[in-house]
Amino acid sequence: MFIFKKRFSSALEIAQLGNPVLRQKAALVANVQDEAIQHLINQLIATAEKYKGVGIAAPQAGQSHRLLIIASYPSERYPHAPNMAPTPMINPSIIDHSKEIEKDWEGCLSIPGIRGLIPRYQSVEVEYLDRSGYGRKQILSGFIARIFQHEYDHLEGKVFLDRIANTQEIMTEFEYQKQIVRQDGTR
Ligand code: ZN
Repeated sequence: MFIFKKRFSSALEIAQLGNPVLRQKAALVANVQDEAIQHLINQLIATAEKYKGVGIAAPQAGQSHRLLIIASYPSERYPHAPNMAPTPMINPSIIDHSKEIEKDWEGCLSIPGIRGLIPRYQSVEVEYLDRSGYGRKQILSGFIARIFQHEYDHLEGKVFLDRIANTQEIMTEFEYQKQIVRQDGTR
C-alpha cells in the first residue's frame, strides 16, 4: 500500500478539454538535463500510470513543453495495447510516414468518457531526444505509431476530436466498452 502511495505521489492533475493549455503550441525544450524537465518526465510517467493512459503529453499536465511519453501496456482502457516501457520523447518530430492510413478507436485523458474512430498513419519515422539528451531515430508502427501521433497532436494544440471525419464515429466510454471491447475479441 505504502509503495503504491509513494509511486503515485508525484502524479499531476490532468488538464481537460476547454483548458486553453491544450490549444497552445508547446515550446521546444531548451535543455533536457534541466532539473525541472527531468522532474516533469517522472511526474508525467506517474500521471500516465495513475490514470491508466498509454501515453501522455506535457500540455495535458498544464506544462506547455514539447515532451511526450509513450507508456503502452494492456489495460481495461486499451486491452490490446502492446507492452512498451515508458519512453520519454523530447522535441519529437515526424520525419516520414507510411502512405497507408488506419482508423481505430482512441480516447484521451483530457476528454474523459469519449471515444473516437481516428485515422492515423500506419507507421511513422520519428526523431526525438531521449531523457539523456541523445538524438534518437525510430520507426513506430500500429498502435504505438497511433499513440505517438495522438500525443504529438497535443504538442501542436490539437486533440483527437479535431480529426474526426464523421460525428457518427464518436462513442461514449460506456458504449465503447460494451460494443467494442467486450464483443470483439479480436481487438
Ligand atoms: Zn490525449
